[in-house]
Amino acid sequence: MSELRFKALEETHNRVPVAVNPPSDQISGFFGENIFGRQSMREFLAEDIFKKVTDAIDHGHPIDRKIADHVAAGMKAWAISKRATHFTHWFQPLHGLTAEKHDSFFNPIEGGRSIERFEGSQLVQQEPDASSFPSGGLRSTFEARGYTAWDPSSPAFITGKTLCVPSVYISYTGEALDYKTPLLRALSVLDKAATDVCQYFDKNVTRVIATLGWEQEYFLIDKAFVDVRPDLLLTGRTLFGMASARGQQLEDHYFGSIPERAMAFIHDFETEAYKLGIPVRTRHNEVAPNQFECAPVFEEVNLSVDHNQQLMDLMDRVSRRHNLRVLLHEKPFAGINGSGKHNNWSMATNTGRNLLSPGKTPKNNLMFLTFFINAIKAVHDHANLLRASIASANNDHRLGANEAPPAIMSIFIGNHLNMILDEIVKKVKKEKMTPEEKSELKLNIGKIPEILIDNTDRNRTSPFAFTGNKFEFRAVGSSANCASAMTVLNTIVADRLTEFNKEVDSLLKKGEDKDEAILHVLRNYIVSSKRILFDGNNYSADWVKEAEKRGLSNINTTPLALDFFVKKDAMHLFEKHHILNEREIHARYEIELENYMKRLQIESRLAGEIAMNQIIPAAVKYQNLLIENVRGLKMIFEGEPVVTYAVEEAAGVVSPGKQKKKSGQTISNGSAGTATGDMYSTQVGLIRETGLHIGALRSDVKSMVEERKKANSIDNIREKAGAYCDKVKPYLASIRKHADKLEMTVDNELWPLAKYREMLFTK
Ligand code: ADP
Ligand code: MG
Repeated sequence: MSELRFKALEETHNRVPVAVNPPSDQISGFFGENIFGRQSMREFLAEDIFKKVTDAIDHGHPIDRKIADHVAAGMKAWAISKRATHFTHWFQPLHGLTAEKHDSFFNPIEGGRSIERFEGSQLVQQEPDASSFPSGGLRSTFEARGYTAWDPSSPAFITGKTLCVPSVYISYTGEALDYKTPLLRALSVLDKAATDVCQYFDKNVTRVIATLGWEQEYFLIDKAFVDVRPDLLLTGRTLFGMASARGQQLEDHYFGSIPERAMAFIHDFETEAYKLGIPVRTRHNEVAPNQFECAPVFEEVNLSVDHNQQLMDLMDRVSRRHNLRVLLHEKPFAGINGSGKHNNWSMATNTGRNLLSPGKTPKNNLMFLTFFINAIKAVHDHANLLRASIASANNDHRLGANEAPPAIMSIFIGNHLNMILDEIVKKVKKEKMTPEEKSELKLNIGKIPEILIDNTDRNRTSPFAFTGNKFEFRAVGSSANCASAMTVLNTIVADRLTEFNKEVDSLLKKGEDKDEAILHVLRNYIVSSKRILFDGNNYSADWVKEAEKRGLSNINTTPLALDFFVKKDAMHLFEKHHILNEREIHARYEIELENYMKRLQIESRLAGEIAMNQIIPAAVKYQNLLIENVRGLKMIFEGEPVVTYAVEEAAGVVSPGKQKKKSGQTISNGSAGTATGDMYSTQVGLIRETGLHIGALRSDVKSMVEERKKANSIDNIREKAGAYCDKVKPYLASIRKHADKLEMTVDNELWPLAKYREMLFTK
């Protein structure tokens, strides 16, 4: 086995960067060339069809079948001009990856001839035989009928020779089986609610979109290492591995110059991303060795989510050309930083305003405060649901570990904004404000933009931070589909804005002045959600205690977090806004639990296998070496006199701790009074130590299998996931502990798994 490891090392050392030749030096020269976006639509569609389609996209209207026929014809012509031969609906089923099933444009016709065909009906709807996608019982397997339906708001694109049409995926009975459907529903509810609230400030606002800019973190590891690490290959993370002597403590990787091979890969996938119209702009080294980040310019949420899904897929594919593997797992390596996907989120109006950016006038700032405080209140009221939206087996390793936001939801807004909120609480009373109070408050609110300009206080430890003109939801995992977090966030904010609208209207009916009515409601929101605001260090143990005092939840595991999806208030919220009905929620809950359970099951089986088939055999080989050694030493030194300090000194083996001892003193420690004891006592100790770890490994694996058996016999999926979490998972940690101890002592040449230092420091 170790031979394979050394072969892998050799391979990686002989790698050279793969040359990359983009179509042109200027990105604008090829940006979006593989999407059926506005430019290609203009070229391939008749003027009136183009207008109708873009109109429908801009206003969220459905597209009728006649127009779809025209669009399909144009799309086909465009795709064929790009040498595409196949088409597929591209969708996001609940297993977390994307799905596609290719059909050829080609159709045989009479006389042995053929034509290329793509009809409106094929564009609009497909019926993949999708019986094996997770459905949580919504679509029994024998029915096997789910539909995919075109989402015109996200442009069709070409990968390889296939035209991909972004689609939603729903069951025969109309229930959502994917991530996109509820997201689109949530975004439309947010549009309505936010537009209504905008009317208090600006009658020109007729549409509000939510915006998302994600920051994708990832590790980049040579392919050869992954090939000799079954755990990385099958689970995406290392189940074993002693920490490298040097990890990230020197903090020299962050923002350092990007290594050449990594750069070639980045350049390559960015080029592919540009062709697909994905506006990636920022790239840098992250904190951990061989960890990187890529971030685009923000876009409308639905489009941005699609782009992130496409990018993750692309990175994986392109990395193989470079003999690299991208690790998107939230925690591939223990003891160093994991990877997240910060979701930068805001709302923008059709008039070009960012609703979380203060404006130049007090009126605009009141508008900003309105959306800002509504968002805070929404997160406060539904913190557990938001926590549930980012729960996964992978993310459990990251949340609450030393470098990631904790599982406690809190919001950072910075000193200055806190002061403004306090000011509102102080000044706005039940009774009418005095003119002085009013103008003082106005003055303070008017100062917000200046305040934000020097709001340099950038708390990096907060799971949900206001960063000047957007909120940054940092607890989202690197491999997650952002749609899950975005559906919840946009739903809870939409719900809050709807209620806000009602509350303000009722005060207006009572004859209250508009600004005062708004401020009154906002004041109440500040008071009732104050406890979630936290500017301190979220990583500290003190915060855990403080949060408990404040009554904030700290939900540490996925099964516990997911329970909040099926609590009454969450159900009510989703149903009220037609985001998900009860059946859909339960189906999702089940799928998530099952996914969690299966991941742990795979990890547990694999950990057992690696421990038994690779680690114990290596340890036994090492033990045999030691035994052989002891046997030899015994033969040579049998019956010789005790080792003295003088002998040690002569041999130059006096350790610093022993240097004060007098010459002639006996230092033989505990052995039988003969030199042989001392000559091999270390080895005997190692043999014993190795044996103890081998024994512990074996017994842990056995007990883990027993626990797994018990868990597998449970029918109820929630209980089963709970058993995996509470009974099986702890063994993964203890098995790892013994294996890592062995890695510290076993001969390096015998060790079968690529080591942390090799994987993390080979560039
Ligand atoms: P940081 O210092 O956190 O890297 P940036 O300004 O570079 O801040 O933004 C990080 C991400 O936030 C980028 O993807 C960017 O496009 C996105 N972003 C900026 N403004 C908005 C916005 N209004 N809505 C959503 N995302 C935004
Ligand atoms: Mg950021």
